[in-house]
Amino acid sequence: MTHQEVLELSQIVGEERITSDEIDLLLHSGDLAPLPESLRNIYGIKLPDTLVFPQDVEQVSAVLKFANQKDIPVTPRGAATTATGAAIPVEGGIAMDLFRLNEIVEFNPQDEYITVGAGCPWKRIIDFLENRGFQLGGYPSSAPSATVGGWFGAGASAGVGVPQYGPAGEQVISMEVVLPDGKIYNTGPRESWLFIGSEGTLGVICEVTLKIYPKPERKFFMYDFDSIDAGVKALDGLWRLKPYFLTTINSGLASMLNEVGMHMSSKPLIIVGMVGGDEESLKTRWRSVEKACMEGSFLGEKPAEEEWENRFKVGLSFKTLGPSLMALEIRIPVPELLPLLNELEDILRNERWGVETLQGDHGTVCAVIYMLADEREKVAFLNKFSYIITAARLAFKHKGFLFGVGLHNTSHMNALHGEAFHFMRLIKNKIDPREIMNPSKTVQVRMPFFMLAMSMGMMRGVPGLVLFGMELASYLPLGLLRFGLGLMGEGIK
Ligand SMILES: Cc1cc2nc3c(=O)[nH]c(=O)nc-3n(C[C@H](O)[C@H](O)[C@H](O)COP(=O)(O)OP(=O)(O)OC[C@H]3O[C@@H](n4cnc5c(N)ncnc54)[C@H](O)[C@@H]3O)c2cc1C
Repeated sequence: MTHQEVLELSQIVGEERITSDEIDLLLHSGDLAPLPESLRNIYGIKLPDTLVFPQDVEQVSAVLKFANQKDIPVTPRGAATTATGAAIPVEGGIAMDLFRLNEIVEFNPQDEYITVGAGCPWKRIIDFLENRGFQLGGYPSSAPSATVGGWFGAGASAGVGVPQYGPAGEQVISMEVVLPDGKIYNTGPRESWLFIGSEGTLGVICEVTLKIYPKPERKFFMYDFDSIDAGVKALDGLWRLKPYFLTTINSGLASMLNEVGMHMSSKPLIIVGMVGGDEESLKTRWRSVEKACMEGSFLGEKPAEEEWENRFKVGLSFKTLGPSLMALEIRIPVPELLPLLNELEDILRNERWGVETLQGDHGTVCAVIYMLADEREKVAFLNKFSYIITAARLAFKHKGFLFGVGLHNTSHMNALHGEAFHFMRLIKNKIDPREIMNPSKTVQVRMPFFMLAMSMGMMRGVPGLVLFGMELASYLPLGLLRFGLGLMGEGIK
């Protein structure tokens, strides 16, 4: 962007809602996952030219209108708690932080809905509703920071409430969205699906109206299992009961949690959950829980309730052990969890790792594979980073999906969506013909798979060559590259 364009933009949003300070730009150029400098170079990631904090839908609209006229990329951003690079403004331009759109606009207990700003963190809405005897139909376990627009942008297919109420998109009554040309558009429940999981590539979600439910009586359970096999069998019975909350922790993760002061069982698998209902239905559901978990040991309601209270802390509480943390997320059917965990034991035998699963929709789990890392050890860190490609391979092998596309998984879009990918491109071309919204993501594949795989493969073998990955790739014929890929270790198989 030129100096003049930044000046014009500051007149649109007001000087106090724009900054080009280098530290602010740096802070808004990444996401939760540390990204090695070498890989930033390979991707060609630029710093955003400027950062705006619009305060209402009209300002969002004015910024998009301006950006569209001038062909300037715009990347919307919530709290950047995704680890796929989805919120990284790869092409520079305008980073749009939506945290000022954080109002609870309307609470209607009679008709059971709530309208909230897209920048509102989920925890604020949860607390607001709990204090008034209501609950949401779904939210992510990153709720203290993750925003409403960010979760819907990322797909909202796993989290608290999802096993009971289904994918969170089904909770949406309407959305207020700003399209890339600046037009403000109000969706009904069906059109909302277009923007759910679009990762900021089709427009900016500004406000969402969600269904809410009277808070029922709740009962918490926690079991541990002597084998992963027995635990997964129980999980398969449990998700069919549609609990509000259902999560598992394997022994690797429990050991890391214990190291930071928690008191988890050391058995191979722990299941924690919560069911709700009136007095009568709770009794029936509780009996079904006991039946599903009969091969496990009941650890009591109290520790289960504590685990529920801690549900927002598990994710990152042990990060300091790394001190960096890699998180690989894939979504697979419940029965595939056993073979996945067995395979991970083998692949990650030299790493410190653990797995948490969050129950997703339609009998899937989102398996979050946490791996301790240390960014300061450049070679070892690059090596760990290449497990991103391993995770994609495991997802497809185990009949699953990638949990989010972002930057690192764009090259798998064809494999993920098949024929539908063509229609996704058509939709993108129709809504955003100038491709200003979060460019280089989803349908705009920036780096062919073989290039990414080769760069990652080099990280496993000869990390010093990473910087030359692109140059090398451009000299080698494709056939030779493919042959080379076969020799380069787990990360690219
Ligand atoms: C500890 C932890 C627990 C997690 N638990 C869950 C979980 O239970 N379930 C789950 O699904 N995920 C989970 N995640 C992943 C992630 O936190 C969620 O996807 C989260 O909701 C993203 O919200 P965000 O505000 O950080 O979005 P960001 O990371 O900022 O953005 C995500 C994507 O949406 C786009 N975007 C952001 N705001 C808007 C907007 N207003 N309009 C249009 N596009 C927008 C961005 O461009 C980006 O592509 C977890 C992550 C962590 C670290």
